[in-house]
Amino acid sequence: MDLTNANEAQKAAIMYLCGPCLVLAGPGSGKTYTITNRILYLLEQGIPPESILVITFMKEAALSMQSRFQEMASAAYPVNFGTFHSIFFHILRESHTLKSNQLLGHSEKSALLLPILKKYETSQEENSGEASRENENSLHDDAAKILSAISYYKNTMELSAAGEKVSGKWQPYFERICRDYGTAVKKTGRLDFDDMLYECKMLLQDNESVRMYWQSRFRHILIDEFQDINPVQYEAVKLLTAASCQIFAVGDDDQSIYGFRGSRPECLRRFSEEFQAKQFLLAVNYRSRHEIVQASLAVIGENKDRFEKQLQAAAKPPDLEYLTAQRSGEETGQSVTAGAGSLNGPVALYGFAERDEQYSHMIQSLSPWLQTGESCAVLFRTNAYMQNFAARLKSAALPYEMKERTESIYDHFIVQDIMAYLQIGYGQGKREHMLRVMNKPSRYISREALGEGEINFERIRAYYVRAPLPEAKKTHVTEELLRFERQFRSIGSFSLRPAISYILKAMGYEQYLKTLSGTDSDKWQEWLELLDWLKEDAAAYESLEEWQSFQRDYTKSLEENQEKAASGRQYPRGKETAASQCKMNPVQLLTVHGAKGLEFDRVWIPDCNEKIFPHGSMPDEKTVEEERRIFYVAMTRAKKCLELLYLTGTKERPRQPSRFLNPLFSHSSISSSNSQLSRYSSKASDTFSYSSSSAI
Ligand code: ATP
Ligand code: MG
Repeated sequence: MDLTNANEAQKAAIMYLCGPCLVLAGPGSGKTYTITNRILYLLEQGIPPESILVITFMKEAALSMQSRFQEMASAAYPVNFGTFHSIFFHILRESHTLKSNQLLGHSEKSALLLPILKKYETSQEENSGEASRENENSLHDDAAKILSAISYYKNTMELSAAGEKVSGKWQPYFERICRDYGTAVKKTGRLDFDDMLYECKMLLQDNESVRMYWQSRFRHILIDEFQDINPVQYEAVKLLTAASCQIFAVGDDDQSIYGFRGSRPECLRRFSEEFQAKQFLLAVNYRSRHEIVQASLAVIGENKDRFEKQLQAAAKPPDLEYLTAQRSGEETGQSVTAGAGSLNGPVALYGFAERDEQYSHMIQSLSPWLQTGESCAVLFRTNAYMQNFAARLKSAALPYEMKERTESIYDHFIVQDIMAYLQIGYGQGKREHMLRVMNKPSRYISREALGEGEINFERIRAYYVRAPLPEAKKTHVTEELLRFERQFRSIGSFSLRPAISYILKAMGYEQYLKTLSGTDSDKWQEWLELLDWLKEDAAAYESLEEWQSFQRDYTKSLEENQEKAASGRQYPRGKETAASQCKMNPVQLLTVHGAKGLEFDRVWIPDCNEKIFPHGSMPDEKTVEEERRIFYVAMTRAKKCLELLYLTGTKERPRQPSRFLNPLFSHSSISSSNSQLSRYSSKASDTFSYSSSSAI
């Protein structure tokens, strides 16, 4: 093993063999590097590889660490690498406590939960006497949130805190929902992902022989990203650790971003005390350029609840390589030579009036780099925005990889509703489309009135004319129906984008959604963003058929990509074009959570705006701190270049840049173009950059 590169603190940690050990340090300081080198060191000391257990939180990170280790190791050693879930699954399976090896997938979990929700919803309606049909689609949305609250409960065992995560209407039932859901899962004889943690902890706790067996098997436990540990995992780790076990944990409280799933960074402190761990601090960032380190420290420095840490870039202040930019290459989309930097220096801030302009800029800015062999990543706060951009890349025939499992955005019920409206308007509607939208908003049209077969407004009207209703009501309903029919004809006269605006405004669909979202302003915000994107997306297509065909294609490629990602194979690279034939590197699309622990030469972070960073409309102080950590994790993935993009909005829809950018905007070393900031500029872009030659 060659430790000539390792610094003194790293070396000391790698070789420490006198008991539990904690390495606490900032991003890029070599925590994962220390773990991988320690594994090599242990092997050199003659420790059997099977007795070494290496745990990370995300599958991506586990794979990345394993491959880093294998690159360094001279032979293939059977060291145990895995995520908490995969390891606990393994323990349960080997201990023969699993009836079935198959875990429940998201859609199966939803399918188990939905009837339970319907049951409680019905009992609610009986109390309130309100009609429920409208809620059917948003029930799917609620199910996703409730599943994540159940997951939070299983990871923390804190029922009331978990219950607070569901919307008010479900709160009184949350405990019963959890119980009923647990029973439904048991009946399947299978496990839900989160059950593995709890079941494994219980197994180790209650069964001494199983515990002793696993304690004797794992003599060295190494845990990366320890700040993400949750109470159930922490307890399970304690149970796995015999008194003589060498446990080695590395972490950074500033990168604790799984609070919503029950992670408790205070476990770092608990670990240090309960295990009497020896502490090592690493203070040199080997990953990022000086400016990126300084900019990210300026951001995280605003958090109050944190351990102050030293962090300095190992890289020398900027050199000529970064000052001699080849901006022309970026503008013309031609390839530029590897190593050339952006004119704007390693950290650049850009403002755009609209999201579409932001996307165009990103495509222009990243495409030249795809041929240089440098790694490029775009990091998103949420899955939905990631898919917006994926769809844009796909139409630009640029290669991308999206490894996180996600459902297609085109399957969202709002998109499906709009598509149903459009299909009827453009004369391709079927009965199922009409059934889907006729009461969104409520128009009091019954299934019976709709009848069977083709959509026929005449027949619906005739039904009401015959119906035993007071005359005044009859006139009202038939007039409304005439108006409804005329509205569909109007849709037919518009192209896609104005047709969508018409459905939203004139046909009342937007108001319907607003009512449906109730008091959940985050959900409303999310839906508004989705509608904005949908209009932008629609504008790129000439006809509904063309758009639908793209949607099918996109959804299919998404599924294929994910299957291939799961089996570790390469992704397809969009349409076969000249670009894809000349072996472009795909750009990585990741959520910030999925990018944890990883690094890329060039990183773009779009939508650096309020409500996105931080996510949600009224975050409390604790949430803002967690959101700031998320932003910090995103910034610190970049090695050479970081672009932060935000929307300035339009006069009709102004947008606030993220508060997390404030320390960057206001920093004294930001170039003078700062004064040109126009929050409502109609065209891109206001550019600010850290002057490469000045220290921040
Ligand atoms: P994060 O908190 O983001 O997970 P980390 O502390 O785990 O970061 P690493 O990913 O281990 O940091 O290291 C960041 C980069 O620095 C890697 O490319 C790694 O190979 C490199 N590196 C670490 N230590 C050294 C060193 N002593 N000399 C040269 N390069 C190093
Ligand atoms: Mg790491």
